[in-house]
Order: sequence, then structure tokens, then C-alpha cells
Amino acid sequence: MKKTNNRISEYFSLWELTRSAIALRHGIPNIPEAREIERLTQLAKYILEPVRQNFAIPFSPSSRFRAPEVNRLAGSKPTSQHILGQAADFEIPTIGNRALADWIKDNLDFDQLILEFHQPDAPKSGWVHCSYRANDNRKHCLIFDGRNYKEF
Ligand SMILES: [Zn+2]
Repeated sequence: MKKTNNRISEYFSLWELTRSAIALRHGIPNIPEAREIERLTQLAKYILEPVRQNFAIPFSPSSRFRAPEVNRLAGSKPTSQHILGQAADFEIPTIGNRALADWIKDNLDFDQLILEFHQPDAPKSGWVHCSYRANDNRKHCLIFDGRNYKEF
């Protein structure tokens, strides 16, 4: 995947939504099919782009599309929406992850929003996982502290 000239929204490129350190390290291709590219484009358009424009701070997702083998090596479930190109994990420099999750909850349409590995007394702890589906977004909001899930 070429690093430049494959923008799928104003601020995001297909390259940055498919690059994978795990894939590189293991010499595995991490290449989305047309269907997954379509979903990544929607994820950028309806989730990442509005977040980027609202906070006006550059960020790049820390996890995004994962081919099934890459997902397995990442230790993630086979049902992960990262495999479908529907989910990304991200943080924004200087913004607390609870504040980021709350803004998404209040302002965007999404499928699943998870504040992962977050400790309430450490605003920058963890990260935000957010997924988007073309239809039937569930608007499901969860906090995961590393052990238990609870709704928020
Ligand atoms: Zn995730």
C-alpha cells in the first residue's frame, strides 16, 4: 500500500487505516478487499473525520483494519469489527479518553463505543475503540477497565 495519494477523507488515508506493525513484523499482508475499503471509508467519514474536525488536533488511529491472521496475532477475538474494517482504536493528544468517548456518544452515530483499559483517576489511560456500520448502528457504550465491562 503506497503511503501517499490514497486519501479516503480530508484528514485520513487508506494507508494509515491499514498499516500494521504486527503484519510487518510477521511478513503477513494486511490488505483490505473492496468491501473493507468501503467500510473504512465510512468509518473515516462518520467517526474519525468529525472527531478530527471537532477537536482540531491531529491524530492517527493506533489500531484499525486487521486481516484475520493479523487480528489473531493481536490477541483479538475472531468476531472483532477490526477484521471487517468497521472499527478503529484511537486517542487524541492532550484530550482525556473519557471526554473523547463522551463527545462521540453525544454527537455521532456509531455501532459500538468502548473506553478500553480506562482508569477514572488517570484521564489519559487506555484508548477509545469505536465502530461504525452502514446500517443498524447499535449505539452501544461500554467501559472496560481491563477486567469488567460496564455501560455508560
Ligand atoms: Zn478496537
